[in-house]
Amino acid sequence: MKVDFLNLKRANEPHEAAILDAVERVVGSGWYILGEQTAAFEREFADYCGVAHCIGVANGLDALHLILRAYDIGEGDEVIVPSNTFIATWLAVSQTGARVVPVEPDERTCNLDPGRIEAAITPRTRAVMPVHLYGQPADMEPICRLARKHGLRVIEDAAQAHGARYRGRRVGGLGDAAGFSFYPGKNLGALGDGGAVTTDDDTLAGTLRKLRNYGSSTKYRHEITGLNSRLDELQSAILRIKLPHLDAENTRRRNAASVYLEALARLPLQLPHVHEEADPVWHLFVVRTPDRDALQTYLREAGIGTNIHYPLACHRQPAYSAERWPALPIAERLQAEVLSLPMAPYLSTADIRAVAERIRAFFS
Ligand SMILES: *Cc1c(COP(=O)(O)O)cnc(C)c1O
Repeated sequence: MKVDFLNLKRANEPHEAAILDAVERVVGSGWYILGEQTAAFEREFADYCGVAHCIGVANGLDALHLILRAYDIGEGDEVIVPSNTFIATWLAVSQTGARVVPVEPDERTCNLDPGRIEAAITPRTRAVMPVHLYGQPADMEPICRLARKHGLRVIEDAAQAHGARYRGRRVGGLGDAAGFSFYPGKNLGALGDGGAVTTDDDTLAGTLRKLRNYGSSTKYRHEITGLNSRLDELQSAILRIKLPHLDAENTRRRNAASVYLEALARLPLQLPHVHEEADPVWHLFVVRTPDRDALQTYLREAGIGTNIHYPLACHRQPAYSAERWPALPIAERLQAEVLSLPMAPYLSTADIRAVAERIRAFFS
């Protein structure tokens, strides 16, 4: 059986008719930027996350970057980030002129290890950016406690975790502010780029509304040197079609994950570990083995697509090679051993069992 790593056409197929309908309405409205679709989506996504404000922006990287800028974090400041994340977490900090300070993850959850944060705090530290990697909420309680103690902002990178919960509360409302991405492959994906900030901070929300729109809240009056980073009406309308189905789709991912967990037990393969306070949304299902490359090749030849998140740790990227980094052995082990198996709401139990069967065959 052939199983793609992720087939976006299949993922969007259940919504296709409604999306085309919504697109037609936006086209006919004659209003394409900062109109009623974006305003309505912002309200709906804020309600979904259980926060007061949602501000649509152009993409997830901008969402994180603009939060930092709005908090006046920049040159001379330091921001704590996970050593193992998608490059955007790091770039959001670097673009402000602040320094990224990588902290290693807990090896079981692959999320920022709260026990390692305090040693990385200096007088210049302004914020900590936990990432809910692979759709698993980071261990926010101890992270927020440390942040309060040291006067730091907590900025969630929630780009992979739309709808995930920690202690029963949705990500996006667990820190001072959160950045989301609606890149097509995310759990809530647009048909192009998109992003949003969620927050309960009224002042931050006001600043972000200006920052994303040339520093302006009244046309042709520019109060701050902002930029152009907006979620457009078409993408907002499409996201409004998909948002009401997000919980059901996340449930389907959860079912797929439990089939994997059962079918892959008792193999020399490290399976994802779910933190006791976390209710993940399985953006990715990531396993670990020192035989990763051989397993990936074996699956490819059997028609099963996989992916690696991520094959080169941020501090090893050419973009960051000019800086000196502390030893980050966990990030380096992860880059060599992680493998993401097919994961999508449309996958059936039979699809998941077929993938698991192949993996069992590899190890037998
Ligand atoms: C996708 C992603 C981003 C960036 O989102 P874009 O919309 O692609 O800019 C940031 N952080 C993480 C962890 C991501 O997975």
